[in-house]
Amino acid sequence: MPRIAIIGGGISGLSAAFTLAEKRQAGAGFEYVLFEAAPRLGGVLVTDRADGCLIEAGPDSFLTEKPWAADLCRKIGLGDQLIDSNDADRKTYIVVRNKLVVMPDGLMFMVPTKILPTVLSPLFSFRTKMRMAGEWFHPPHKATSDETVAQMVERHYGAEMVDLLADPLLSGVYGGEATGLSVRAVLPRFADMEAKHGSLGRAMLAARKKMASPTNAAPRALFTSLKEGMQQMVDGLLDRLDRSALRVSSPVQLLIPQDGGWTVSAGYQSDQFDAVIIAAPAHAAAALLESADENLARELAGIDYSSSVTVTLGYDESVRRSLPPGFGFLVPRSAGRRMLAATFVHNKFPHRAPDNRALVRCFLGGARDEQILDASDEQILGIVREELRQIISLNADPLFTRVYKWRAAMAQYSVGHLDRLARIQALCQKLPGLALAGNGFSGIGVPDCVRSGTEAATKVLSEMGVWSAA
Ligand SMILES: Cc1cc2nc3c(=O)[nH]c(=O)nc-3n(C[C@H](O)[C@H](O)[C@H](O)COP(=O)(O)OP(=O)(O)OC[C@H]3O[C@@H](n4cnc5c(N)ncnc54)[C@H](O)[C@@H]3O)c2cc1C
Repeated sequence: MPRIAIIGGGISGLSAAFTLAEKRQAGAGFEYVLFEAAPRLGGVLVTDRADGCLIEAGPDSFLTEKPWAADLCRKIGLGDQLIDSNDADRKTYIVVRNKLVVMPDGLMFMVPTKILPTVLSPLFSFRTKMRMAGEWFHPPHKATSDETVAQMVERHYGAEMVDLLADPLLSGVYGGEATGLSVRAVLPRFADMEAKHGSLGRAMLAARKKMASPTNAAPRALFTSLKEGMQQMVDGLLDRLDRSALRVSSPVQLLIPQDGGWTVSAGYQSDQFDAVIIAAPAHAAAALLESADENLARELAGIDYSSSVTVTLGYDESVRRSLPPGFGFLVPRSAGRRMLAATFVHNKFPHRAPDNRALVRCFLGGARDEQILDASDEQILGIVREELRQIISLNADPLFTRVYKWRAAMAQYSVGHLDRLARIQALCQKLPGLALAGNGFSGIGVPDCVRSGTEAATKVLSEMGVWSAA
């Protein structure tokens, strides 16, 4: 019977396994085995609990507009567990001179689409506001080569916009910097909008008009999560998988193409498979494929990753009453802090904290502060508490704290990433029975990872002739 190995049991690998399990249930004849290095499955999806509060160690939700994660949740029977972010309370602040300044209404990602709130906002200087007005008349521009997000945003709105919005927004999503990330890979819509409309502001408005529903249906929430946290998605998937096919604490050390298949070495064991799906970070995939194809390994190793630290602090009712409304704040680089952002979790989602508790989740690390990973939990907590004191005057002692470190977990799509992907795809074609999935390639968010795992599984099945989408 044909055999498929999956390497990596994060959400990408579990999505691949679920797709294989579905096809097996539908009668396709093959076996699969999932190898996971860690003692648990789920990768960076981890939900913890303390004092009646639900704590996300990694992702807390996913973008609603990308359907693949929610679709998977519905497939595994968690449709009624999906929850929306409390968008009626959505408000995000930017830290400017140790004060929270609210982001003006009408900003779509970083593009202003409403004139009055932007003009009246104390966030931007007069000079930047003039740039925003001028941006409206930006001529269409088809870039001949890739560039950084910072370069594009600066061309449209000036350097202040990069510092106040582009950089902090990207460090929130990618743990990366606007000066390093590729506009084509990270914000392909922006590149298209610029080519077609010139002005990003006019393009966003046109897109919004097109999307506006004639039935006046309420707009969908920006983020979707699960009542019991992101771990619920992992547990839901595990319930649908054959447990005997899941090998935890089994780091794969080597992959060797052999006799039209693959030899997979994990620990002291080597096993033969017809196809392999690598759903581990690109740097791990590179190490595995070194002896199979050193050019492919070099390309995979060229995809940079940054690290991330999340710190959650729980407080009592008096703190909850004293904290500002809204989802939280972003910290621009010019603020000279180590914290990148903080979320007021009790405001962002229901079911996260009892009414008498406040939950603040802070982010540190990213491409500009890898050193934070080497600090002890106590040192990190010290930094976070001092910065919360200075930024939002939060002096109270927390009831509980949690620190989570994620080393080399966030892929950085730097300039030229799409060209690198094309080279990786071409090299993979020379290695039959190999598919790559995970956040290193075509999207870092949970929905993109779900899609990548599903597509990788579908690809190997159809290549093996076991099952075809057609
Ligand atoms: C702190 C944080 C917050 C985030 N917030 C959000 C968010 O709110 N929304 C969102 O959409 N996305 C968010 N993301 C991004 C998203 O969660 C990740 O990109 C995604 O979960 C990655 O899934 P994955 O399966 O590709 O990788 P991982 O979760 O990293 O899993 C890869 C797995 O491969 C295993 N592995 C590695 N090498 C081997 C080997 N040799 N053999 C066997 N196993 C191996 C690892 O142990 C790991 O379990 C966040 C990420 C982090 C770190």
